[in-house]
Amino acid sequence: MKHTTHLKRHEVHPVLIIGSGPAGFTAAIYAGRANLHPIVFEGEQPGGQLTITTEVENYPGFEQGIPGPELMDILRKQACRFGTTCKYETITAVDFSKRPFTLHAGEQVYYADSVIISTGARAKLLNIPSEQLYMGFGVSACATCDGFFFRNQDVLVVGGGDTAMEEANYLTRFCSSVTIVHRRDAFRASKIMLDRAKENPKLKWSTNQEIIEVLGATNDQGHKIVTGAILRNTVTGKTEAIKTNGIFVAIGHSPNTELFRGLLDMNDHGYLETKGKTSFTNIAGVFACGDCQDHVYRQAVTAAGTGCIAAIDAERWLAANPMIYGYEPTNDVTDIIMEEEIPRHA
Ligand code: NDP
Repeated sequence: MKHTTHLKRHEVHPVLIIGSGPAGFTAAIYAGRANLHPIVFEGEQPGGQLTITTEVENYPGFEQGIPGPELMDILRKQACRFGTTCKYETITAVDFSKRPFTLHAGEQVYYADSVIISTGARAKLLNIPSEQLYMGFGVSACATCDGFFFRNQDVLVVGGGDTAMEEANYLTRFCSSVTIVHRRDAFRASKIMLDRAKENPKLKWSTNQEIIEVLGATNDQGHKIVTGAILRNTVTGKTEAIKTNGIFVAIGHSPNTELFRGLLDMNDHGYLETKGKTSFTNIAGVFACGDCQDHVYRQAVTAAGTGCIAAIDAERWLAANPMIYGYEPTNDVTDIIMEEEIPRHA
């Protein structure tokens, strides 16, 4: 049944941004400068993945590199300088089936003419039962967050990509031994990262191996600890138990797009589909940028670049489609939008 609720114009935001990584804040900088007064919903990890990166060496403009959290603070302040509001809230549900779009942050409801999605991605896990049991007690998906706790200990790093190389190199600063465990003998990592790891005398290599079980125990203080792992040779199938104090899982990332499943087009791996070189999703007025729609490059600078694209797309789309609720967006009449009460059809 069709019913109408009434919203005041000021309750409908021109653009709401979901996610606070380099993509979200860059979108906010551009949307703010376009006078769209964006709100950024920072989500469960304010600042995104870079906040768990010690040193960012490849973001242009920072010749000597910059700690990830510091870079995100700068981006947040830059966005706020142009009228962005940052909310430490997580969007829990969205409705893109009618206009204005509705976003829920728990009990709180927000209305928007356009939405920019920049929800990013998160680390993948091995999905073996013992991994969850010891997560935070010796198993970690973030060397930069947890490496310090493994001072003078032996650890494994799982994976053969750039993340694994970077994390393994980093861990050699603290740990007495770091072994890279990789399921093949060829590496996906870029040559420069692989070479750097190969030149590190503190790194050991265990190829054609996968971890099938994390071994652990309870220590004298009653805390769970990791004591070892069972490795399986991916060529011969032979298994062996080895000792270790920590296991760092560095096997890639999954996009944070569960919220949009069934609403927006996405590929088999859950990355949002965008049209051509734009940030347009399959719903007019909903734009996507950053790692949630990029399974190829996944860099801070490319995320920032697509955040810029999304804000420009949103700005142009809003200009071309003045919102007249109760009707389809049209270019015909522009002043109805200024009415104090606007009907919203649900
Ligand atoms: P990748 O997808 O590149 O690599 C993932 C690695 O984990 C692969 O070696 C893969 O093995 C392995 N793997 C995946 N699933 C499993 C599993 N279930 N069990 C065991 N091993 C598994 O991800 P990364 O996070 O390493 O890199 C992502 C992107 O980020 C890349 O483009 C990279 O260049 C970039 N990056 C850049 C950095 C920098 O420039 N400083 C730092 C870190 C990342 P297999 O090869 O067999 O598939």
